Amino acid sequence: MNEVIRVSDKTREKLIDYYKDMKKDKVIPYVVFQAVDMDTVITLYESGKVMFQGKNADMDAEMWREIDGQSKIDKKQIKEEEKKYYYCSSIGSDEVGTGDYFGPIVVSSCYVKEEDIPYLEELGIKDSKKLTDEKILQIAPKIAKKIPYKSVILSNSEYNEKYTHDVNMNKIKALLHNRVLHELMQENYKIDYLIVDEFARERRYYEYLEDAPFIQKGITFMTKAEDKNLAVASASIISRYLFLKEMDKLSDSIHIPLPKGAGVEVDKIGEEIVEKFGEDKLKEIAKLNFKNTQKILHTLLY
Ligand code: MN
Repeated sequence: MNEVIRVSDKTREKLIDYYKDMKKDKVIPYVVFQAVDMDTVITLYESGKVMFQGKNADMDAEMWREIDGQSKIDKKQIKEEEKKYYYCSSIGSDEVGTGDYFGPIVVSSCYVKEEDIPYLEELGIKDSKKLTDEKILQIAPKIAKKIPYKSVILSNSEYNEKYTHDVNMNKIKALLHNRVLHELMQENYKIDYLIVDEFARERRYYEYLEDAPFIQKGITFMTKAEDKNLAVASASIISRYLFLKEMDKLSDSIHIPLPKGAGVEVDKIGEEIVEKFGEDKLKEIAKLNFKNTQKILHTLLY
């Protein structure tokens, strides 16, 4: 099956980021990259077109159409439909740190009762990406006091040990989400929905969990879930808070403030760290499979 879609520049950036660990090395004329995700081959053309090939090509294309806001369903109808995921009792999860070279990956799940919604709204809860670090540090402890949550922090050492050979960020995410959701579900809270911000299609999400010791079922996957459900929004804030605290600890331990993201500033600081502490230090504070590692080490050779 073949599906071709065209996406906006913003979605194109997301698409490049999403498939960055699954790219093929092959260089093809007029092609930005070709990637393989399970049984689907994804080709992004310079023209802005994206081709999906494989037996689940339609599912993958539909996910990107949704992210790009091209879904065929009536917008008003969606808004109505979404209310039920907002005004409800739910457990939701979200992750932080997957796009940052330095620092751990943090995934949290939260339980929000319908009665807690006004309090959370009053705190000004939004997707953590839209809040300043200052605001996160201020409101996360209040959320943590009010609502039950579970978090897992995957340290850089663990990440680098476990995922050196077969790094697939979406699989890592799936395993960690599964773990914190399962843990919180053991408390037997009364919930209407169990919600995960959609980073992979449902079928694929469960394929990633093949070797997991337990599998949390019954999840509703949705795009932009942080905006639609307060359990997911709370989980994103608590995750961000823990991430910031871990980054502080790492920065203190080497007396160098670690930048977020994966840009040039990160490379610069990375070089400084290698000069001071040696290459091995990166294993403890960075995600080695990121391209930044090569940039940092390559620069030192010349
Ligand atoms: Mn998310």
